[in-house]
Amino acid sequence: TVVIGVLALQGAFIEHIHYLQRLRPQYHTIRAIPIRTLEELKQCHALVIPGGESTVISSIASHTPGLIEALIEFAQNPEKAVWGTCAGMILMADEDGIGGGRKKAVKGWNGIGGMKVWRNLYGNQLESFEAPLHIPSISNPSKPFNTIFIRAPAVHSLSPDSQVEVIAQLPENYRPSLPPSDSPLGEPNPDDLGKVWLKKGRKMVTSFHPELSGDTRVHEFWVERCVLGR
Ligand code: GLN
Repeated sequence: TVVIGVLALQGAFIEHIHYLQRLRPQYHTIRAIPIRTLEELKQCHALVIPGGESTVISSIASHTPGLIEALIEFAQNPEKAVWGTCAGMILMADEDGIGGGRKKAVKGWNGIGGMKVWRNLYGNQLESFEAPLHIPSISNPSKPFNTIFIRAPAVHSLSPDSQVEVIAQLPENYRPSLPPSDSPLGEPNPDDLGKVWLKKGRKMVTSFHPELSGDTRVHEFWVERCVLGR
């Protein structure tokens, strides 16, 4: 059995569990379980960090002694598959910024390596949107995948040596405006801004919410390529 943990502290974790369960006819060996404790994390071969609110997820995690440290170790272990969606992508970054100086930045777990993100760059809750994307790497690629963005983070910049694979990008007309260049994160890279699905080895991030799309093809990609490593 390949145990896939879904961090279940806050946010859209139950949806990820359901979508992974829907893949079981195809992948008999996988089992998805909610993770709240160190003991549960120790059972996992792979981990999903869901969307929600990154500050809340990291604050709740910090109430369990040793949990954040164990999550960081998991995220940085090249053998372990980890997928961060939206808030989870922020936690997989090494640094993040947010406009207006409203909130204190979240401490990133640096799971991708060399990725900086800008939180809420696509706007507030009311500015949530959906974009149908043609994604060549998923199954049935001629059928568009409906990507859903809810107060989503954007890639601020990737370090040139970060060697990430870009699986999907937003077309120009959906891209957010550039974050400020005078922030502590430094100069944003306009070329990185529309990158909404990245993979590096067994690590993956999506700034959208595949677990709300009604479509399991991103989960299938992750199980196939990152968890089972085929
Ligand atoms: N805006 C949230 C954050 O900063 C992320 C939103 C989401 O996960 N849908 O954590």
